[in-house]
Amino acid sequence: MAKEIVQPRIRGFIATNAHPEGCRARVLSQIETTRELGVGDRGGNALVVGASTGYGLASRIVAAFGRGAKTLGCFYERPATGRRTATAGYYNAVAFHEAAEEAGLGAWSLNGDAFSDELKAQVVATLREHMGPVDTLIYSLASPRRTHPKTGLTHQSTLKPTGEPFTGKSINLNTGAVESVTIESASGVEVADTIQVMGGEDFALWVSLLLDEGLLAEGADAVAYSYIGPKVTHGIYRSGTIGMAKLHLEETTPHLAQRMGEAVGGRAYVSVNKGVITPASAAIPVVPLYMSMLYPVMRAAGTHEAPIDQMNRLFREHLDGTPVTDDAGRIRLDDREMAAEVQAEIARRWAAVDTDNLAQYADFRGYQSEFRQLFGFEVEGLDYGEPVEIERVLPS
Ligand code: NAD
Repeated sequence: MAKEIVQPRIRGFIATNAHPEGCRARVLSQIETTRELGVGDRGGNALVVGASTGYGLASRIVAAFGRGAKTLGCFYERPATGRRTATAGYYNAVAFHEAAEEAGLGAWSLNGDAFSDELKAQVVATLREHMGPVDTLIYSLASPRRTHPKTGLTHQSTLKPTGEPFTGKSINLNTGAVESVTIESASGVEVADTIQVMGGEDFALWVSLLLDEGLLAEGADAVAYSYIGPKVTHGIYRSGTIGMAKLHLEETTPHLAQRMGEAVGGRAYVSVNKGVITPASAAIPVVPLYMSMLYPVMRAAGTHEAPIDQMNRLFREHLDGTPVTDDAGRIRLDDREMAAEVQAEIARRWAAVDTDNLAQYADFRGYQSEFRQLFGFEVEGLDYGEPVEIERVLPS
């Protein structure tokens, strides 16, 4: 075992280490938030694909600590090796297991490539051995690439506009300078590859697998996550390559709903979640500047939500009853982000912001701090001068 003093190694949107105790504190705080909203006795079994960070971790926490469900979580994370720390998602998963065990909640985790047939077979075996059919499937993957299980080809996703090149304001995450960026349009192949990675095919494969194996319970729900976002990011997000993939996911889901309805009386939804600071969203040009404005604007409006607040709303206000959807059948957890007064204030600030007046219109310092907290740094109450055990055991 190896004790280390762990200091952040973060550049731009890339973090190469994580603090195990900071990650643990953040998982415990999300559990606390969930418990405060009340612990139900619905129980059941939840399978969360992409369960170690962001929306997937929050979903797993709400399923377990809000409903009392047994959970199986899949993710792709790296354990500590030598003096190198594990990834934040790995430490989050370890912390989740410790807390679940203490609470007497069954929990299993599989660390591997969720796009692969091998990992899917392990999920089937784990469900058969320990849990039985699932009543909630949450699909929360965010990945830059996917090796297709049938062709063996690896597809890379890109974050580019489709149609015209995109020019817009963006923040340089290293210097804090507000710059104008121009991003050339994606090729047809890049659009198709991004759909392969982040579109609906893999979600459909998960639903088919569970149906074929008899591992979806009567009345089961399957939910995948999407994003729409504001006008200022449309060119790079919603009408860009990633938006095309999300559209594919949104068009795939009603077919899954029909199949699940016929087979087990189940339901399938896309939930459009609000924009939050995660490694995935930090990598998208323009989006970090928008988030640096969105957080203070929503805080001032009293409507700010973190992933755990969004997921408590999803489970308690939608999935536990009859979900409220928009005309396209999607659950809209982004309603408060997209509220006219919030977006009008963002548009006003967006037009005015530059490097010199950044602090007046956006909270970039707050953005950076939230980003560091994703990796367990700058978490209140921790002594970062203390050496900590970086090798932690994830129950298999
Ligand atoms: P995230 O990066 O925090 O989490 C991604 C998860 O996927 C992690 O658990 C990771 O281990 C797992 N993963 C990645 N590749 C994998 C693989 N090959 N096999 C197994 N696991 C793998 O992402 P997030 O921001 O929480 O996004 C989750 C979903 O929510 C995405 O569909 C995203 O588009 C959507 N969403 C995000 C936002 C946002 O602002 N972050 C807003 C709305 C919707």
